[in-house]
Amino acid sequence: MEKSKMLDRANSLLKEVFGYDEFRPLQAKIIDNVLRKNDTLVIMPTGSGKSLCYQIPALIFDGLTVVVSPLISLMKDQVEQLAALEVPAVYLNSSLSSDAYQHNFELVRQGNVRLLYVAPETLLTTRLHSLLASQTISCFTIDEAHCISEWGHDFRPEYRQLMDVRARYPDAVCMALTATATPRVQADIKSSLGFGASNEFLASFNRENLFLRVVEKSAGLQQTVEFLREFPEKSGIIYCFSRRQVEDLSDFLGSEGFSVRPYHAGMSDVERQRNQEAFIRDDVQIIVATVAFGMGINKPNVRFVVHFDLPKNIEGYYQQIGRAGRDGLRAECLLLFGYGDTAKIRFFIDQKQGQEQQVANTQLSAMVRFAESYLCRRQPLLSYFGEAYSRKNCGMCDNCLAGERKLEDITVPAQMFLSCVKRTRELFGANHVIDVLRGSESQRIFKFDHQHLSTYGIGKDYSKKQWLHLSRQFVQADLLVQDSQHGSLKLTEKAYDALHGKDTVMGAVAAAEPQLQIRDEDVPEYDTDLFNRLRKRRKMLADEEQVAPYVIFPDKSLVEMAIYFPHTKEHLLLMHGVGAAKLERYGAKFISDILGHCRLKNIEDRSYLKRGAPQQATRQGARTLSGGKRKFARIAEAFNAGKSLAQLCTEFGVQQRTVVSNLWRFVNEGGSLATDRLAALETSVNLPPHQKDAVATAFQRLGRNALKPVYQACDEVIDYDVLAVLRLVHDTNKSSKETR
Ligand code: ADP
Ligand code: ZN
Repeated sequence: MEKSKMLDRANSLLKEVFGYDEFRPLQAKIIDNVLRKNDTLVIMPTGSGKSLCYQIPALIFDGLTVVVSPLISLMKDQVEQLAALEVPAVYLNSSLSSDAYQHNFELVRQGNVRLLYVAPETLLTTRLHSLLASQTISCFTIDEAHCISEWGHDFRPEYRQLMDVRARYPDAVCMALTATATPRVQADIKSSLGFGASNEFLASFNRENLFLRVVEKSAGLQQTVEFLREFPEKSGIIYCFSRRQVEDLSDFLGSEGFSVRPYHAGMSDVERQRNQEAFIRDDVQIIVATVAFGMGINKPNVRFVVHFDLPKNIEGYYQQIGRAGRDGLRAECLLLFGYGDTAKIRFFIDQKQGQEQQVANTQLSAMVRFAESYLCRRQPLLSYFGEAYSRKNCGMCDNCLAGERKLEDITVPAQMFLSCVKRTRELFGANHVIDVLRGSESQRIFKFDHQHLSTYGIGKDYSKKQWLHLSRQFVQADLLVQDSQHGSLKLTEKAYDALHGKDTVMGAVAAAEPQLQIRDEDVPEYDTDLFNRLRKRRKMLADEEQVAPYVIFPDKSLVEMAIYFPHTKEHLLLMHGVGAAKLERYGAKFISDILGHCRLKNIEDRSYLKRGAPQQATRQGARTLSGGKRKFARIAEAFNAGKSLAQLCTEFGVQQRTVVSNLWRFVNEGGSLATDRLAALETSVNLPPHQKDAVATAFQRLGRNALKPVYQACDEVIDYDVLAVLRLVHDTNKSSKETR
């Protein structure tokens, strides 16, 4: 296939097979690059749609695509999702029984498979070596490519040997994918695989659909319950610092009536597996877990992630919140920030040594700075990953929504605090400094003889809580830095300007009350009754097939059905995530639910509101995957070669409108027609503008599959041949615009 045609083909596969309307940022570019057989490194955050970048080429290439993946649960998940789309894919790894292994092995050997998922250690066996040697390998994909790097958190020695395997198939294009943002790991992947910089695709790590919120932890349990009540029947994860905390919180929430299970490394494998599975299958709503949970979870509809305790570092925090909202719909991330938590983490850090301890301390300080910041949450988060975030207001974090804080002059308390830090010789943390200021009579004060300092007892006007809040603002304002090892506060140069009255310090004396209200303004209006009905249907089907509900349809598909109420299969096809295979398998059942609901409530089909989607029924779509030149393709080829419509009519023994409809079909299947020939066809149409407009509106309203309704809508005065040409011209222009 020609290059441009391959990309057209990619476009039509996107809707036909996957049911998506358009590529996400970078996907089209990456796919184009891979189709050109350039080795490609893809660095995109979780949930951005990396899989599609190799799955679509796999459907276009002649040979097999081998996908190396370290996570058995992910392999299974991917293969199940592909099976629901009727894309032939299998996996080979140690979890399979020998019969199942043999079965999959045979499928690959007979060339009946487009994608083979394989564990790295399996790939290195001689058995697999000989299997692959018998096949044409078109693409060699390395998923979770950071496992190749010893600098990553997940190093796998077998990954080091992948290059030798790859070298045996010089004709296969190689793709490496990862969601790891650290430049060091990225560099390591590139050098290990010998990739040039030009074939690297780096997406922004900003996850726009995640709402980020930090709330001071005052009554953690109560705050958590309050938060959860905002998410009836939604899935979410709550991360805790310790196993003990996981058990306690999970018990507590269970007793409050929430559907919840625990997960931590201290539980048996079986139990952990069971709880994870229940979560994925929507049998259980909430998982309370340590950071052990989440690797290999592909669940797209996680609607919230709560950090009950402070994460140890920003990278971990980012990874954990990244498990929310993979489907692109809004998800809430709540961090409950208690100052006691910092101490807990410091306790563990203190047991480390040397450089490791220093690194951990630096990371914790960055995390605390993030939590205390009054700036847009996205700024510190993204700058940690070396990405500049230039937008002033992200609209999706607590600080941006809070607007301007009311600031007051806090120079006087600042001077008190700073001079007290100086008098105690910059050796103490905030708590001790505050004790001095407030004239505490504790042992510790007397031990250091601090009751004689001139700053002793001068700050009694403010409560301990107010002082703590103030001190955090002094750190934020760069007046103080905290020693990463001992937690003691030290003055900066800026502090001296404030002390000498050269600078005014602005801030707030009282801490704002913790805000927990969830404002859900931007969720599209949808019929929740219908949504719930469809959800039940989905769950039933999923249980029958023993897969996760999202394998049947993601939430977004059901949301769209509950917005547009498609009454026919043809219109159902317009919905997100509905491609040919799923339409065939599940279409009738969902339509019948929608019709039942709409009849009862007297709701009409509103699919026409969803414009811009390719409107043809593609039940044949999946079948065309197997290739073979069809009649419409032969007609198109002859047309491109310069034959006139009249010639084609005689050659293929059909009417003119059928010739044109076949060309239209060809375009919709991803083919392209010679532009000069099309232009000639367009100028042959001789219609006044108002009639052209009427035709365009009618197509928009009635869909493009059949000409008859449009013919009737236009008062039966416009010839079918003309209608067929207008439909073709319109859709060709549209698809060429999309691919640009
Ligand atoms: P990643 O591997 O980058 O974490 P996935 O490949 O699992 O992300 O994709 C995340 C979700 O986004 C999946 O549910 C996937 O089907 C969906 N998705 C991918 N590409 C698109 C697209 N172009 N349009 C709509 N949804 C998409
Ligand atoms: Zn923001």
